[in-house]
Amino acid sequence: MTAHHEDAPSPAPNAALLPAGSHLAWRGGQLHVDDVPLASLAREHGTPLFVYSQAAILDAARGWQEALAGRDALVCYAIKANSSLALLRLMAQAGCGFDIVSGGELERALAAGAAPERIVFSGVGKTRAEMRRALEAGIGCFNVESLAEMDELSAIAGEMGCTAPISVRVNPDVDARTHPYISTGLKGNKFGISHAEARAAYQHAATLPWLRVKGIDCHIGSQITESAPYLEALERLLDLVEAIEADGTPLAHIDFGGGLGIDYAGEQPPAPAALWGELLARLDARGHGQRRIIVEPGRSIVGNAGVCLTSVLRLKEGETRNFCIVDAAMNDLPRPALYQAWHRIVPLTEMLPGTPARVWDVVGPVCESGDWIGKNRPLAVQPGDVLAVLSAGAYCMSMASRYNSRPLPAEVLVDGSSTRLIRRREAPQDAWQHELP
Ligand SMILES: *Cc1c(COP(=O)(O)O)cnc(C)c1O
Repeated sequence: MTAHHEDAPSPAPNAALLPAGSHLAWRGGQLHVDDVPLASLAREHGTPLFVYSQAAILDAARGWQEALAGRDALVCYAIKANSSLALLRLMAQAGCGFDIVSGGELERALAAGAAPERIVFSGVGKTRAEMRRALEAGIGCFNVESLAEMDELSAIAGEMGCTAPISVRVNPDVDARTHPYISTGLKGNKFGISHAEARAAYQHAATLPWLRVKGIDCHIGSQITESAPYLEALERLLDLVEAIEADGTPLAHIDFGGGLGIDYAGEQPPAPAALWGELLARLDARGHGQRRIIVEPGRSIVGNAGVCLTSVLRLKEGETRNFCIVDAAMNDLPRPALYQAWHRIVPLTEMLPGTPARVWDVVGPVCESGDWIGKNRPLAVQPGDVLAVLSAGAYCMSMASRYNSRPLPAEVLVDGSSTRLIRRREAPQDAWQHELP
């Protein structure tokens, strides 16, 4: 991917920069999501406000389903990208399964109407209670990440008188060339079982009476913008599949994880159909075309379907930098502070070429120097204006916190010209309801 850190010169804002697939458009000089002007949503619901396009989410989910059409395949949306119940319900209705990483996500998936057998459970630190609850619910597969987890899961299933469906998450040791915090397929990170140890892990699984081996799993990282790392991972995974089956353990499915990137700053990741065109050709060429395929996309389904609206509180011109202080902060939009991530920031009224702009650091009110949303942004702004932070559908609201006792923002879902509040804005008191004096 293009390393797009804040020291890089920012692209000038113009209409061409609205990300593809976002369902955003300038109409009459006003930024719209589908048929709704964002300014009207900011007026009605206040800011900070997350707004999602239902059509954008469904289009993206369909893009994945169509990429695997005609195959025995399941698209399991990775809940951690955005766990809003209304969005999960939408995806369950669209036929998606879910990739969960905690008991909390399991309860959300079930509450949203997910079919339990379409749930896969990833993560290095599943608790005994989470394993028990997932077995009770009858989930489709545990993606097991260590031998110790295998032993525990088998023991719990034995106590419950059932068997646990598993796949082993293997670490194919390919470099996804993405941010180190979101690269997961390299040696030396905490995820999965190493390529070298994978065969032994399956032999160990075969000795455990309460496990049922279903497949193999990998996930090489996130925000991957080229197909090469996936192709490399697939070749290594298929080598393993052949070796494990030769050892006597049939593998019904291959779970290839998630991680496909989106356009934050002009990146051009392959569409799911293009990526899977290449991957399926390799699967077929190596004689694995009949295998069940599971994918776990998160960001590529919701990332560009959401924006965060934020109001300019005041402007503060300094000796070396100018600050545009807005009412969203690192607690609402953690990606810049956490990953030095770059998000487009645009006013809701189109900036025509030639509009005099000044260069601003867009920052929030939180008491941390790391609390910025964008640096060096040429913008024509006044206090009271509303800005849209684009590509904010994934890993924003699901990572939001109440740091500085800031209540969590509201969320709205747009469907054509109609809008629906899917999360009420919190009051400060909501945040302390479980605290004891
Ligand atoms: C985070 C994660 C995903 C989703 O990743 P995206 O980059 O959002 O597509 C899928 N599978 C696992 C195991 C994950 O940890």
